[in-house]
Formats: sequence, structure tokens, C-alpha cells
Amino acid sequence: MTVPTSRTAPLVACAECDLLQQLPDGLTGAVRCARCGALIMRRARAGLDHTLALVIAAFPLLFLANWYPLLEVDLGGRPSAATLMGSVLALQEQGTSVVAVLVMVTTIVVPALYLASLLYLLLPIRLGRRPRGFSRVFRTICVIRPWGMIEVFLLGLLVSLVKLASMASVVTGIALWSFAALMVVLAWTTAAFDTHALWDEADLLAGAEG
Ligand SMILES: [Zn+2]
Repeated sequence: MTVPTSRTAPLVACAECDLLQQLPDGLTGAVRCARCGALIMRRARAGLDHTLALVIAAFPLLFLANWYPLLEVDLGGRPSAATLMGSVLALQEQGTSVVAVLVMVTTIVVPALYLASLLYLLLPIRLGRRPRGFSRVFRTICVIRPWGMIEVFLLGLLVSLVKLASMASVVTGIALWSFAALMVVLAWTTAAFDTHALWDEADLLAGAEG
């Protein structure tokens, strides 16, 4: 947790041993605790623009992953294509509504909300304005982030694909590749997102506006 004291020398408490320590100004790379060596924060070299670029790149992938078929299966001359939303509806029709809701939330709702929230914070900051409800949207990002589970879904899909391949002719759709790319971009976005830099920028803008 960062305790703002002045713009140049913030105090940071180590999450592992609770030691309160002053950070030198202009930090880059990983910052470790002076007492126990735990990672306190990682300052992204590329800054917030890098995260914003990744978020913008993720939106077309999210659209492709949801709009186009994941798989096309030809079972005895009867071809059928399955989209992500179609799979959710099929799960619900089979009476497994809880699984259907879980798949929808973890693979469609959370990734979309996560990206939209990041864009809502990063784009105005890039344009020199602190967005309304900044703290609330930031907390939303922290709460929903662990619930995005595209990688788990993709793993399950690949297992099904291997099993299906022995029974029918299976063609992978554009959405499957988009999902794989989205998984990489989302992991990269989370790794590149420097929350301390975001708060620094937001505080600066709030000071300028106030
Ligand atoms: Zn420590």
C-alpha cells in the first residue's frame, strides 16, 4: 500500500513484512523490500501507453472470438458450426445453467468488462483528463481480474478437440485462433499494467484540475 506523503518521496509498506520504506524518485524496473527482499512493485519501462496499445489491440480479437465459429464439425455429412455464445445456449438447453453462466461470465463478460474498464481509465489519462469515478472503476478492475479465465476455457476446448477429431471431421474456426491471441494479449496487458504509474498520473491531473 502506498501512503502519499509528497510527490517525490512516497512511503510504501511491504506486503510481506510490513516495513514502511521511502522510495527514491524516478524508479524503473523491480523494487524490492529493503528488509525481506519481497517484490514491492514493478515499474513498467514502457509506461501506460504500452498498456493502452495492448487494450486497443485486444478489442478486435474479442470481437472475432465472439462473432465467428470456434469449431466446425462434420458428423456424417451434417456440418455444424459452434460459436461461443451458441455453446453457452447449448449448455443451458441441456439443463446445466450454472455451467452456462460460469462460461459466459468468465469468457465473455469479464474479459469485455476488464478491457472496457481499462480503456475508460487509460484513454482519458492519455488525453490529460482524470475520468469520473476513477477509484470505483479501478477497484472494479481489481475485483474482476481474477475471474477472467479464457486460458481454462481454451484448455478445455483443446481437450474436446482432440477427442472429437477421432469421431468426426473437425475444422478449427477463426474464433479459436482469436481466443488464443486474446489470451496472450490479456496476459501481456496485465503484466504491463503499472497501477502505481496510473495513480501517479491521476493524482497529478487531479491536482492540476483542482
Ligand atoms: Zn519486506
